[in-house]
Amino acid sequence: MGKNRTTKMNFIFSANFHYKHFTTTKLAGNMKNRTERDSFFRSVDLNSGNLVLANQVHGNAIKIVKRCDKNTFIDSCDGLITNDRNLLLGIFTADCIPILVSCSDGEVKAAIHVGWKGLYLGIIENAIGILINDFCISSKSLKVYIGPHIRSCCYRTGSEMENKFNIKLVNGKLDLSAILCTKLESYGVNEIFDVNQCTCHNEQLFFSYRRDCCTDRLLSVI
Ligand SMILES: [Zn+2]
Repeated sequence: MGKNRTTKMNFIFSANFHYKHFTTTKLAGNMKNRTERDSFFRSVDLNSGNLVLANQVHGNAIKIVKRCDKNTFIDSCDGLITNDRNLLLGIFTADCIPILVSCSDGEVKAAIHVGWKGLYLGIIENAIGILINDFCISSKSLKVYIGPHIRSCCYRTGSEMENKFNIKLVNGKLDLSAILCTKLESYGVNEIFDVNQCTCHNEQLFFSYRRDCCTDRLLSVI
């Protein structure tokens, strides 16, 4: 990752996650917009031509991507996995959880869009299944970055979530990342790095669909 040349914080990252990654902030612009995205990538010395993105659908599909997929959008999926070190994988969010995954040496990496639907439909199970079966990676060796998302301080949901996830809401609010972490830990993943930021709470830094009904999106990249 290149230097942040401005004094503005236009991306954030976890200092403890071992592989190069970031999540843009509002100050980087709307990453759904090609011009703003390319301009941000230039500002951090990254080639947006190596980026693979997804037409995300709140489903559970994960696609394995290769060099020939660079500079494209993969249709109808919410997770991307590759073993090509030259590729950058990106996931759009504005309240859902962006998770970035890397095996111990960064040889295989993944970017996954995790909302309640994807979590309920088994996107984490699908991703870990592919990493184990197609890439022969032990789930215990995975490291996971959890980016900014709407957290239990702000995420008021209906009580139907209690049955879906076999949990109790606290003050009517859902703790999506707690469910995610429980799931990851059940696979023996214990290196989880959470930036501990709430998109809905921090209006200066993040877009929030729940707060603003906006179409602008943050981008998380590994
Ligand atoms: Zn909050």
